[in-house]
Amino acid sequence: MTTLAIAGGRVLRPDLTVTTADVLIDQDGGEIREIGPDLAADADETLDAGGSLVTPGFVNGHCHVAMTLLRGYADDKPLDAWLQEDIWPAEGELTADDVRAGAELGLVELIKSGTTAFADMYFHVPEVAAAVEEAGLRARLGHGIVTIGRDEDAAREDARTSLEIAREYDGAADGRISTAFMPHSLTTVGSEYLEEFVPEAREAGVPIHYHANETADEVAPIVEEHGVRPLEYAVDRGMLEPEDFVAHGVHVDEHEIDLLAEAGTGVIHCPASNMKLASGMAPVQRMLDAGVTVGLGTDGAASNNDLSMLDEARDAAMLGKLAADDASAVPAEAVVEMLTRGSADAIGLESGRLEEGAPADLAVIDLERPHLTPRHDLVSHLAYAAAAADVRHTICDGRVLMRDREVLSLDETAVRERAADHAADLVSRAE
Ligand SMILES: [Zn+2]
Repeated sequence: MTTLAIAGGRVLRPDLTVTTADVLIDQDGGEIREIGPDLAADADETLDAGGSLVTPGFVNGHCHVAMTLLRGYADDKPLDAWLQEDIWPAEGELTADDVRAGAELGLVELIKSGTTAFADMYFHVPEVAAAVEEAGLRARLGHGIVTIGRDEDAAREDARTSLEIAREYDGAADGRISTAFMPHSLTTVGSEYLEEFVPEAREAGVPIHYHANETADEVAPIVEEHGVRPLEYAVDRGMLEPEDFVAHGVHVDEHEIDLLAEAGTGVIHCPASNMKLASGMAPVQRMLDAGVTVGLGTDGAASNNDLSMLDEARDAAMLGKLAADDASAVPAEAVVEMLTRGSADAIGLESGRLEEGAPADLAVIDLERPHLTPRHDLVSHLAYAAAAADVRHTICDGRVLMRDREVLSLDETAVRERAADHAADLVSRAE
């Protein structure tokens, strides 16, 4: 057994207490072996965590990681116009190489901001999977299906692709990659395709992930056409099971919140994207009160515009209070739960907790920073004050992906330059 000790730090435990301890990792098994005092002496390798907080690696529950190529390309528009006028035309030009370059850029950004696992819906998934394999992160990947505006053959082929990708890549990268069947949303995929393919996805044993109730404009057509709320429509099509997870859940009514809680379906809250596209305010505290599993996601970099989960945590706390008109709503503890275990539970991973036997997915955050001084409450700092640049080390599956702010699994400079070239070329083709 090869062991790595993360030594001399303060460790955030699952009950959100913080204790001074070392964390001993079994690198072969990719799991945490022990948490306690003086574990560094016998370890094969040591990572210094002095003056730092050791936390579970953050889990980004909803992302389109290759959309980093479109960061800053089109801003300040509502969702529908933004998608139809800017994003979809550009995405129509995307090649497999573009997606690889964009995904690598996104993965560098995730590693640098302490994120060790994410769920991703996009196209050219084999390229995203190859990037994940190289970068060393953990991911649940899927091909996003859109059938509106397509003829029947093309629509069916898109759904078939999502199913085949889900079957083929589940368990890839030594088990670090898992998959899901991913219809883009309940309004961009025709009901006949959901009825045909959802049972096949169940048979394949993969979860289903989709955007749901993101904007008011997305709710109205379902109510008009089918006479039910979107999540009732999802239940009728077998799309609200314990292993499933939806993104957004902004415009959900009380009955839909109950449906989510009863089903055990996770909701990935994406506050920055919801604010930027003026989609609305998700009733996060009400969902938490009802017992819904709530995680956090950045969504794509084009609507955020970064992939920092620490930013997302702060946004979730702030927006949650505003939505509830209550400063005690969505407190720091709830946000830190969502950032770690909430997202992991929602997307069906065992990460997000620092305890013996858990996956060795961790972030080490430098506390010796002016904006993290004094240290009355480290959970508060994680929710409200810490930033991506404070992350010193990132470890996933027992492997050190970043040491002292240097990414080890990818060449950051080369990735950045390649992505910038692909982005410029993509935009010139789209225009
Ligand atoms: Zn999204």
